[in-house]
Amino acid sequence: MPDLRDLYQEVILEHSKAPRNFHALAQANQKAEGFNPLCGDHFTVYMTTAGDSIQDIAFQGSGCAISKASASMMTQAVKGKSKAEAKELFDTFHKLVTTGESNGDREDLGKLAVFSGVSEFPVRVKCATLAWHTLQAALEGKQEKVSTE
Ligand code: ZN
Repeated sequence: MPDLRDLYQEVILEHSKAPRNFHALAQANQKAEGFNPLCGDHFTVYMTTAGDSIQDIAFQGSGCAISKASASMMTQAVKGKSKAEAKELFDTFHKLVTTGESNGDREDLGKLAVFSGVSEFPVRVKCATLAWHTLQAALEGKQEKVSTE
């Protein structure tokens, strides 16, 4: 069994303690709310988009270290990207956290690659992907709250 401590690598701990883009976005034109009832993670993702581009993104809420760090790093990863690029990155990230593999796209993932250890802990996959599912709902303009269950 892998050591649970390996999952909480330094970068994850650091982001969970000092999350980036952790605030509401008054000018947001797209937002969505996501909930992981299994763990109690609960976030709102705010976005300012112009055409196909994600100009600004932020989040608020509370959750475990994994979910918060993942949300923090997600906002950094997709800010300035196109909606299609963000969706592609989610697909790559989702594959990484569910299988530990990334199609050789680790360079695209950058720091997000630290979440590969999550694949060893299926219950944590929902924590790691919550912010991404919420991002997708915001991009699609879904009104209902996203739930991982
Ligand atoms: Zn969690």
